[in-house]
Amino acid sequence: MHCPFCRHTDSRVIDSRANDDGTAIRRRRQCPECGRRFTTVENASLTIIKRSGATEPFSRDKIVSGVRRACQGRPVSEDDLALLAQRVEEALRQQGQAEVEAHEIGLAILGPLRELDEVAYLRFASVYQAFDSLEDFESAIAVLRAEREPVGTEPVPSKTRSKT
Ligand SMILES: [Zn+2]
Repeated sequence: MHCPFCRHTDSRVIDSRANDDGTAIRRRRQCPECGRRFTTVENASLTIIKRSGATEPFSRDKIVSGVRRACQGRPVSEDDLALLAQRVEEALRQQGQAEVEAHEIGLAILGPLRELDEVAYLRFASVYQAFDSLEDFESAIAVLRAEREPVGTEPVPSKTRSKT
């Protein structure tokens, strides 16, 4: 690492620490030539491979703007969206690959979005999974219902129980 002050070609690391979510490391460095100190930040890169084959760096902002559209009119705050994007990034990084295909991002969004808001989830899934009929919606809703029922911690409105 070159010294930004005197352009000396070497520097010494005097302290390293990871940021809170572990996605970057800050290093305090000192130049052995001029003695001045500076900080560098290292990010593990996460690259997205688009369907066209082009690549771009992962961006939480893009996750947020993609999901925000599905959340229009829903009780979802900007904080919820930011947290969702963070969870998506963590899930992708946990796979341990430096490159991720774009469709895997959609998959990584579905889980946390479903926990956040089921209507937004259905909207997003309908675009992402290219629902093209009512049956696609019906089966997605059936899956949501089936997985919700065993929880049983909150009372279910009587209307939805009429079958039993
Ligand atoms: Zn220097």
